[in-house]
Amino acid sequence: MDVVLRERNIEEYRTIIGNEVDEIKKLAEPLKGKKVLHVNATAYGGGVAEILHNLVPLMRSVGLDARWRVIEAPDEFFNVTKKFHNTLQGADIEISEEEWNLYEEVCRKNAELIQDEELFVIHDPQPAALRKFVDLNDRKWIWRCHIDLSTPNMKVWQRFSQYLEGYDRLVFHLEEYFPQGWKERSIAFPPSIDPLSEKNRDLDEDTIRKTLERLEIDPERPLITVVSRFDPWKDLFSAIDVYRLVKKEIPEVQLAVVSAMATDDPEGWFFFEKVLRYAGTDEDIKFCTNLKGVGNKEVNAIQRATTVALHTATREGFGLVISEALYKRVPVVARPVGGVKIQVKHGENGYLAWEREDLAGYVVKLIRDEELRRKMGEKGRQTVVENFIITVHLKNYLKLFSDLLR
Ligand code: UDP
Repeated sequence: MDVVLRERNIEEYRTIIGNEVDEIKKLAEPLKGKKVLHVNATAYGGGVAEILHNLVPLMRSVGLDARWRVIEAPDEFFNVTKKFHNTLQGADIEISEEEWNLYEEVCRKNAELIQDEELFVIHDPQPAALRKFVDLNDRKWIWRCHIDLSTPNMKVWQRFSQYLEGYDRLVFHLEEYFPQGWKERSIAFPPSIDPLSEKNRDLDEDTIRKTLERLEIDPERPLITVVSRFDPWKDLFSAIDVYRLVKKEIPEVQLAVVSAMATDDPEGWFFFEKVLRYAGTDEDIKFCTNLKGVGNKEVNAIQRATTVALHTATREGFGLVISEALYKRVPVVARPVGGVKIQVKHGENGYLAWEREDLAGYVVKLIRDEELRRKMGEKGRQTVVENFIITVHLKNYLKLFSDLLR
């Protein structure tokens, strides 16, 4: 199924990146009219879909004939690919012969729908085997991987990696995620946030105030915010512990737990319940979920009203939420894992620490020092504009395309 794309114009970004818009147009000039097909597994939910909704229209706006297709697959297929997702990051799970067969069969069927393209960008493990079933060897093939492949379950990797043989380039968020033995064919560039999306664009004070009112957050008191899915790796228990340590020093502090609840994720419901119990009866912990109508605009408003953003994840591929906060000039206190390390510069736009006591110490320091927050906030904005906004992402893709189509 081809995804219906919104309109975007690269000129809209001139207020944010100035003349870099011209540099992008120049880079795109030789690629005008090139047929580029992005393929992934879902049009909604998750970072990849979010990025493609913004990025593909921008590619079109600079002249590429870019399209985005979502593979068609039954539910059982996604049970198999969830196993790929986990085993490729190291989990010790068996994948049966029937599961491998189902995976190949779905990819083979989807491959039949592929026609005349010049360049393919295949995202993540779900559609990776498409390449094997498309007999267009003179075209260019990119596999864009959003997970860490440095320590996979070797049994699964040995078989899965055969699907990658026909790709010209593998793209990861970080070099440390490259799989062993594939370094020559791999490159790294980070994902991005879109400053013009509903999640990130400027909001007026009135909208922010009304959102806080509706969620019973007091705008006059300091606010720590954690934005994350209800997922064990995000370690929301530690976030609550950190908040409690801070509260001993600053009794008026509040904690917003902004967390989306997917109705089709039973694991998420259980986890939600555990976190709620852990939070107990403290009314200064505000659960802001989509069950209360917290969507992109509300997340935006809460992030903008935040004094310090907190991120306690113990494993993180990239962590778009970090860039979302930094872009809004909010300093971030986080654990030094995965993609967090390249976004938070310790002592510049936030602080990195592992232990809860240390994280709490940094949060207290920031809440007490408005001038420090202002300075770090400016730096954070700069970090994102220079490295993690969609136009930088677009440039990285354009360079890669030019390199391959040369
Ligand atoms: N998000 C959201 N509402 C929530 C929780 C998360 O919109 O209640 C968004 C968040 O703003 C970000 C994305 O979901 O854009 C999460 O991406 P990230 O890379 O931080 O983590 P992931 O969930 O992919 O592990």
